[in-house]
Amino acid sequence: MDRPNLEIDAAIAEAHGRFLKANPKSAARHEGAKRALPGGNTRAVLWYEPFPLTLTGGEGCRVTDLDGNTYVDFVSEYTAGLYGHSNAKIAATIKSIADSGWVLGGPNPYEARLGQAIVDRYPAIERVRFCNSGTEANLMALSTARAVTGRKSILAFDGGYHGGILTFAHGGSPLNAPYPFIFAQYNDLEGTATLIRQHAGDLAAVILEPMMGGGGCIAAEPEFLAMLREETAKAGIILIFDEVMASRLSYRGYHGMAGIKPDMISLGKYIGGGCSFGAFGGRADILDRFDPGRPDSFGHGGTFNNNVFSMAAGLTGFTEVLTEEALNRMNALGEELRAGMNALIAARGIGAVVTGVGSIMNLHFVAGEVTSPHDAEAGDPRLLHLWQIESLLKRQYVTPRGMIALSLPIGRAEIVAFLDVFAEFLDSYRSVLPNRE
Ligand code: PMP
Repeated sequence: MDRPNLEIDAAIAEAHGRFLKANPKSAARHEGAKRALPGGNTRAVLWYEPFPLTLTGGEGCRVTDLDGNTYVDFVSEYTAGLYGHSNAKIAATIKSIADSGWVLGGPNPYEARLGQAIVDRYPAIERVRFCNSGTEANLMALSTARAVTGRKSILAFDGGYHGGILTFAHGGSPLNAPYPFIFAQYNDLEGTATLIRQHAGDLAAVILEPMMGGGGCIAAEPEFLAMLREETAKAGIILIFDEVMASRLSYRGYHGMAGIKPDMISLGKYIGGGCSFGAFGGRADILDRFDPGRPDSFGHGGTFNNNVFSMAAGLTGFTEVLTEEALNRMNALGEELRAGMNALIAARGIGAVVTGVGSIMNLHFVAGEVTSPHDAEAGDPRLLHLWQIESLLKRQYVTPRGMIALSLPIGRAEIVAFLDVFAEFLDSYRSVLPNRE
């Protein structure tokens, strides 16, 4: 099976040929899309070479494309698709909203109930406000921290991702929101503590994901989180945990599992039950500044902040579907998948690792340890691309960057089949994959 003289670029070109042959309708749709949408795209993460598959539907943990191929979904809408594609309770809620009206222009019966469920579940959230995306939640949290502290700067982490205009990988984006950022290295305990002390007088907030998702599924060391809590508390800096992805890694949120109480938390993705969603919450003394009845109130508008679909579907999902047992089962299955992939890698002496926590993980073709986005960048991105295209050809729907997220409908049978396909990839391409150090 191994092909000793194989070159990566030639292997990719050959795989693209098979991909085009299998997906002519997706290819044609993508070409047509370029007329109105730049590059045929309106969401950067969904773009990949030679063209992205067009998805037309989903059921359970499977999605179908325009050419009629069905895939087991290991993208799970970048963690927002936690409930899968056809949860009966959520679907019934959405249908009932479609029947009763959804642009009503007043408080609805669902928003406070969803807020209460979030407050009851997450130890660090005493009050919560809704918005429309994780990006917006983080912008609101950062601006709130600046307003309550009267300070300007934000400490964030190199390689972090907190939204479309809060993106800190590969030197950041020219479109980033113009906060004065100071960057530290993730899991660098000494260096980060020094930076916080140096800038204490002007730091409004420290923001991080307790497990970096987009940054490569890299978990913070417990001592690192403890240091951040201690140093920020000492200096009156607002500690913000971005749990847009990470909240699903434990029933009480990542902070609940870690036993750390940040001052603010941002949420998003799956909590809207599959509809557009964002939320920011935290300490009552901070959040209560949003009480419109207060003379010193912060205004916070947003036409769709209490979007009826998101509030109602979110409430059903969060309170009726996402039980502690269901969440634990999904995260345990994720640990099984990660351990299985790492065992296949180790047995072949390959320089690769699957990092992550529970149901969210990332494959890296890197020979050494991966404890920061900087480590992850050592990998050759062509290898992940080859893995993605070959996995798609085997009907496993995976992301271009090697991230894998489970959903509730995924079971052990899907995990076993995925591991078989992964082993086959490792064997077919062994000669181009790095060796273990
Ligand atoms: N924070 C994190 C950790 C995320 O993963 C994302 C989305 N990938 C966001 C914020 C932004 O959320 P949204 O895409 O809803 O704006």
